[in-house]
Amino acid sequence: MVQKKKFFKLFIICTLFVFINNCTNQDKAPGPPYTAEVLQMNSMTSTQKRSEAPTFKFDKATFTWLQDLNSLNGNYFNFVFGGILKASYVSGSIVSAKSFEQSKDLNLRYNVKNGVVVPKDYSTLAMLSSYYQFDVVANNIQTMTGYSMDSIFSKYGKIRIFFEPKIILESDGSTIQSSGKLNAAYVPGAHQFIMFQRSNLENIPLAANLQVIAHEFGHSIWELAFDNGSTPDCDRLNQEYVIRGLNEGFADMNSYTLTGSTNILQNSIDFGNGGTQRNFSTITFTYDNITGGVADSSNSTCEQSFYCIGTLFANALFNAQKNLGYDQTSLSGSLARGAFMTLVTNAIKTTKSNMSNLPSSSLIKFYDYCKPSPGDSNNSDYNGLILGSFFNSFLTQIGSGATQTQICTQLKANFGSVGFPSTYRVGCT
Ligand SMILES: [Zn+2]
Repeated sequence: MVQKKKFFKLFIICTLFVFINNCTNQDKAPGPPYTAEVLQMNSMTSTQKRSEAPTFKFDKATFTWLQDLNSLNGNYFNFVFGGILKASYVSGSIVSAKSFEQSKDLNLRYNVKNGVVVPKDYSTLAMLSSYYQFDVVANNIQTMTGYSMDSIFSKYGKIRIFFEPKIILESDGSTIQSSGKLNAAYVPGAHQFIMFQRSNLENIPLAANLQVIAHEFGHSIWELAFDNGSTPDCDRLNQEYVIRGLNEGFADMNSYTLTGSTNILQNSIDFGNGGTQRNFSTITFTYDNITGGVADSSNSTCEQSFYCIGTLFANALFNAQKNLGYDQTSLSGSLARGAFMTLVTNAIKTTKSNMSNLPSSSLIKFYDYCKPSPGDSNNSDYNGLILGSFFNSFLTQIGSGATQTQICTQLKANFGSVGFPSTYRVGCT
């Protein structure tokens, strides 16, 4: 009996020790700055084609802006794990949401070897890798767009990144997370990002793919430039099919500007032709090929709905960049990718306020300005008037000269007389 009691006591102590040890067994990571083993993109070499997909490596990297490892809290970004996000709608990788509740503790699990944080499980690896990509974007965003990270911080505050939240659609109570379609997204208005860690084993998790993070960050830059940092609720222009498309094309350009690759999804997603149809430097379709509902059905040249509009926009900008003599293999420099994208971003800043000759309200194809309409590539003439108004203002903001003429010429080649009516053209006829 005494033996049994002693054993029990010992057992309790042992259990307690293991329990406490488990909760606090994280080695103390030295930092900031912290160094951890994370998934990283290998830089594209100058001999690679821009349409190639980059390769990735698992290696140690030092975080620039991370201040507290265990809470993944830094100067510009703060991770929030779990929780419930109530969304009014989801459009592509844009989620409209205002309220967020019930987050969980992060509970990162890692060892420290020679001062380097080594993740112990997939979830820790995914979160550390994801945070690292945001740091990389923060280090380059000024070169890419002209916006410094401090100016973004002064407008948006510290940006929260929700990892693995449950997203409930307010309209019908359905849960987006379970649909498996959404893996990384941006929440305009709230200026937050949403990341999911899952991925099939062969692929780079979207949340750890610099190409994808740079695309999502491109949406926050679009919001800064096109909407002056605050996407209004129930705004007709933002809900227009083609404007949502142009936002996607701008985000793809943002990704390419950082990484040098226009092949943004090949490493992470293999949904049929999706990756290929979004690889905007090699596409051959035009606006005329995706009218009449074709972009919303399968087995066409582009079946990515409004993303197809963005791909045509990004392709026109890419071709103009090349023809104007920019070095497409380099991010920084006076005639490199960053300088071109900064020029585009600056023009977008005053594009919306100067858009004119929009189709009259009697022609508007949807009536709920608080929710985007479903795909409507059928409305090719109407959509062409919205595009025309946007391009007209955008080109005017670019300013007259070779750049304006070149971009106008490329937009005309891709969008034709229906997607870019001649009356809207500036710099070319
Ligand atoms: Zn997107």
